[in-house]
Amino acid sequence: MTALEVRDLTIEYPQAHGRPFRAVHDLSFSLHAGQTLALVGESGSGKSSVLKALSRLVRPARGEILLGGREGVRGTEYRRAVQMVFQDPFASLNPSHTIDHHLRRPLLATGRARRGAEADAAVAELLRQVNLTPAADVARKRPHELSGGQRQRVAIARALAPQPDVLLADEPVSMLDVSIRLEILNLLDHLKRERDLALLYVTHDLATARHFSSEIMVMYRGEVVERGPSDEVILSPKHPYTQLLAAAAPSTGATREQVRAARQVRLAARAQRDAERREVVVGDGCRFRPRCPFAMEKCTQRPPEARISPADGTSSGHRALCWLYEDTPATAATAPTVPP
Ligand code: SF4
Ligand code: MG
Repeated sequence: MTALEVRDLTIEYPQAHGRPFRAVHDLSFSLHAGQTLALVGESGSGKSSVLKALSRLVRPARGEILLGGREGVRGTEYRRAVQMVFQDPFASLNPSHTIDHHLRRPLLATGRARRGAEADAAVAELLRQVNLTPAADVARKRPHELSGGQRQRVAIARALAPQPDVLLADEPVSMLDVSIRLEILNLLDHLKRERDLALLYVTHDLATARHFSSEIMVMYRGEVVERGPSDEVILSPKHPYTQLLAAAAPSTGATREQVRAARQVRLAARAQRDAERREVVVGDGCRFRPRCPFAMEKCTQRPPEARISPADGTSSGHRALCWLYEDTPATAATAPTVPP
């Protein structure tokens, strides 16, 4: 079942001068119950704007967000169904409240438990699910008495309290010690399976994106430049930007050859970027052009359209927004064949 569907989402912010700044441009995707979709990109790619729109904190300039196949779900119903785990477990919990308070409040507010013994039991059960035991001891504590990893477990428990359908995880481990990152990601993965959650995993880390998601979308300056099955996108990146990201993260499982090739791409890109910095106007072409070592005449003239890469031109849905794959329109691979 489709838990969350986003259609043509465009997000703009007003600027003091000139046209509004377009942070996200025509984003579409769907996310099923039990699926993890990774949204990958560096800062400024638009990831945070997407999350704000999905949390209903900003109103998109255009586009639809459908929940369980329905348009226009808002207010308390939406806030219950779509929960977020924030990046910073040190800022997302209120230092003056106990852990018990943090968990009890959403349970009561969404009617998931009644005051008293029922809420006591529900708080204990949430803590058990995120492996914080003995629950009674943890519940009495305040955030500063817990480690970063423990706090993030509390934040996850709090997000689970209203029994959401969709969990948005905004770089959930990037502020934690490296040694506990996998534990937290494994916990999220386990809870997703157990509760049949739809999980949007926002990260700049390709290795964990590959490991924990079935599908990856790579964003660059507000656009999805590549998307497809996680293994394909990471092991055989098509868009020059994804190739750069993969080169910067050799732990993704790329071969030595791929890393070497990507290093060359990176060096070329740096030279190109330096040259382009002296030029002010990028113009109407591809947004990645100033950093792209493969830029052609055409790339300066028109924005590229989504193309399937030739090597993978089957039905996997691997697409790159790049003129390099001009000969293989994405629609050719996905269009249904008419029976004779
Ligand atoms: Fe590079 Fe051109 Fe592809 Fe853009 S469209 S990524 S500039 S080759
Ligand atoms: Mg961010």
